[in-house]
Amino acid sequence: MKYCQGPQCHTYDTKDRKRGTKGNKVNQTRRRSNMYYGKGNFCSMQCYNDWAEEFSDRAIDYFGRITQPIVLTEDNAWRKRYRWGYGDEGDRHIIYNMLTSEERPLTEAQYNDSNYTLNT
Ligand SMILES: [Zn+2]
Repeated sequence: MKYCQGPQCHTYDTKDRKRGTKGNKVNQTRRRSNMYYGKGNFCSMQCYNDWAEEFSDRAIDYFGRITQPIVLTEDNAWRKRYRWGYGDEGDRHIIYNMLTSEERPLTEAQYNDSNYTLNT
């Protein structure tokens, strides 16, 4: 079990966050074995966004702010695609270059092989 990392999680009004008896009631951060947002760190998209709102700038400065564009070159712009066809042009697997628009046919085995790529 772990706690949601949302800094405002305890402020949302739901039954499962409430603890304590009359005169002693509190709302507390959700605790769960599985959470589905932000790599399992947040109980909801709202909590994920709250974290981003409060900590994004500091986290980015800490891990390295992007100050120049990251570039995709022709060498690593190949993406697998599946083309639906009809008639003589049946369905086919291709690998497509996002920058040059070049297409090359793939076998189904190559398409399904997650290690197969033309990216260099
Ligand atoms: Zn939460």
